[in-house]
Amino acid sequence: MTEVTDLKPHLPVYLDNAATTPVDPDVATAMAECLTLDGVFGNPASRSHLYGWDAEERVEQARVEVAELLNCDPREIVWTSGATESDNLAIKGVLLGARARGRHLITSRIEHKAVIDSCRWLEKQGCEVTWLTPDASGSVAADAVAQALRPDTALVSLMAVNNELGVFNDIEAIAAVTRAAGVPLHVDAAQALAKVPIDLAAVPVELMSFSGHKIYGPKGIGALYVRRNAGLALEPQMHGGGHERGLRSGTLPTHQIVGMGRACALASAGLEAEMARLRDLRERFMAGIAELDDVGLNGAAERSVPGIVNLAFGGVDGEALLLALSADVACSSASACTTATVEPSHVLRGIGLGDELAHASIRFSMGRFTTAEEVDFAARRVLETVSRLRASFAGNPRRGVV
Ligand SMILES: *Cc1c(COP(=O)(O)O)cnc(C)c1O
Repeated sequence: MTEVTDLKPHLPVYLDNAATTPVDPDVATAMAECLTLDGVFGNPASRSHLYGWDAEERVEQARVEVAELLNCDPREIVWTSGATESDNLAIKGVLLGARARGRHLITSRIEHKAVIDSCRWLEKQGCEVTWLTPDASGSVAADAVAQALRPDTALVSLMAVNNELGVFNDIEAIAAVTRAAGVPLHVDAAQALAKVPIDLAAVPVELMSFSGHKIYGPKGIGALYVRRNAGLALEPQMHGGGHERGLRSGTLPTHQIVGMGRACALASAGLEAEMARLRDLRERFMAGIAELDDVGLNGAAERSVPGIVNLAFGGVDGEALLLALSADVACSSASACTTATVEPSHVLRGIGLGDELAHASIRFSMGRFTTAEEVDFAARRVLETVSRLRASFAGNPRRGVV
C-alpha cells in the first residue's frame, strides 16, 4: 500500500518543537566564538588573566540577556544544566534547606517528570506531598492551591505551561495566594520562556525554571531564577568549587551560556509577532484537518500557548498513527514509552482522559522555523492517514498496526 510519494527523499516536517527546538543559526554563531583558541575559551572563574576575564564578561552579558527577558535582576539567575536540574535544585533545595518551614509541599499530577520525581523522592525522605488534580481544561485553580495550604507547607510547585497540552496556569492568581500565605512558589517555565511574556517584577514568584533547548538555544543549559531578599535558603544539590554563589558548583560552560543568552535576546525582539504567527499556523493546521470527525482537543485552546495542539483521534491508535506518519511528519504521542509497555500519558490521565483516548492522542508543536507550506502538507498527511487507519481497522482501533 506504499504510495509513490512516500518514497520521495525528504525530511519529515518537524512538528515536535515542544520536545526540543533546533539551535537558531545566530545562536550557533555566538556559541562557536567561545570554543577554540582564537575564541573566548577561557574558564570564567579564572581571575588572573584576560582569557578568564573575557569569558566571565560573556557569561555575565548572557545573564543580563536572560534577566532582561524576565524583567528581573541578573543576580537572580543561576546557571544549571537544564530545566530538569533547575526543578531539582528548586524543589529539593527548598525542602532540604535550613529555613524550610515544614515538610509539606503542593504540586499537581500533570507536572513534568523532573518535578514529579523530585517530589516523589522527597516523599521517600519523609516529606508529604499534596498532588492537585487540574480541571478538564488542564489548569490548576488558585482556589485549589489555597485549600491545600497548611501551616507546614514549605513550597508550592506548579508549571507555567504544560508541555503536553500547551495549557497555562494562572500563575498570577496562584502567586497571589502563595504570597499572602508566605509560602514560596516555584514555577517550571520551560515551555513559557520566550513563548509568552513573563514579568517577574510584576508576579511574585520565588523560583522559576528554564531550559535553553526549548527556546532555540542549545541542549544542556538552563537557569533557575531565585528571587533575592525572599528569605530562601536553598540547599545546593551539586557541591564543589562554589560557583553561582555556592548554589551550583561546576565550571560554567561559556558557549552554552552564551547560546542561552543569545536565544533570549532573539526571542524578546519579536515575541508578540511570533505568537500571532504561531496562532495562525495552528488555526491553519486545524482547518486542514477539519474534515475529520471525532477529533478531540486535549486541553483548552483559549488557555494555551499558540504553538502546541494536542488531539485525540477517536478510534485510532496513537502509536500506529505516529508510525504511519513518521516518514512525513515528526510529532509525538503523549505517551512515555518504556521498553516493554506503552503507558498512557500521566498528563492526559491527569485531566481525566480514559486510557482509550489517551492512547489515541498526538501532540503537534510548531516553532520559529515552521512554515505555512509545512503545516498544509502535515495536515493533509494527517487527514489521509487517520482516514486510512480508520477505514482499515474499523471497530478494532487497538489493532491499528501498520
Ligand atoms: C523540557 C522540559 C523540562 C526539562 O528540561 P531539560 O532542559 O531538558 O532538562 C522540564 N519541564 C518542562 C515543562 C519541559 O518542557
